[in-house]
Amino acid sequence: MKIRVLGCYGGVTRDHRVTGFLINDHILLDPGTVADPLTLEEQNLIDVAIISHSHLDHCAGIAFLADNIFAQADRGVRIIAMPKTAEAIQKHLLNGTMWPDFTSIANEVSSIAAIETLSVNKAKPVEELVITPFPAEHTVPTVGFVIADEGGALLYSADTSDITAAVDASTGVENLRLAIVEASFPNRMRELARKTGHLVPEMCSPLVKALGNKVPIRLFHMKPRYVDEIRSDAASLDGDVALLSEGEVLQV
Ligand SMILES: [Zn+2]
Ligand SMILES: [Zn+2]
Repeated sequence: MKIRVLGCYGGVTRDHRVTGFLINDHILLDPGTVADPLTLEEQNLIDVAIISHSHLDHCAGIAFLADNIFAQADRGVRIIAMPKTAEAIQKHLLNGTMWPDFTSIANEVSSIAAIETLSVNKAKPVEELVITPFPAEHTVPTVGFVIADEGGALLYSADTSDITAAVDASTGVENLRLAIVEASFPNRMRELARKTGHLVPEMCSPLVKALGNKVPIRLFHMKPRYVDEIRSDAASLDGDVALLSEGEVLQV
């Protein structure tokens, strides 16, 4: 599995983009950022978007992707999310007011954005992957995912203030090769992180302990203002823990 980091921050500046991962060149994971770093040709290859929750920094990129591809693409983009997230995207983003409802605009083959739903803890085959959502603690309904293919598995813990479910989800995963976990604030802002449904590096300790040095943990969703502090807090965790960077390509 090839994972390209399109965006990995918890905010936007000239030098930072919000969350966006491109798997095997055609599957989006949490498409907060999609179009900015990709050519039109690269965007034309995308046919699936897997979304953890309805916050804009995890889904807004599909709006501009759909607009770019709707006249040219010969296939639609499948949007895959839990029912409440899917409902929120339909009601508040692709609703005909904030943006055209691309789920009802049909091209010659299918609608541009066809929404499909998931069930928690239930594995679903998606193209060459199998994805299994697990619960998260956030300010809106949110899940993380175990994403597996023949070569190995990725644990993706999206926005959450409690790492416990990710630790549980990691147990017994065959060939777990990588964990991507959020760390929005530095350790000194733990209380604010908890209140806003986020983590600081030291709150990731139970996962670091569970995975030891066997599985690398890469942090994302850092608020741009605190990146250096989060990096130094992460360095004090006893494991293979580092911050993701944009443009990075990881192999699982
Ligand atoms: Zn969020
Ligand atoms: Zn977020």
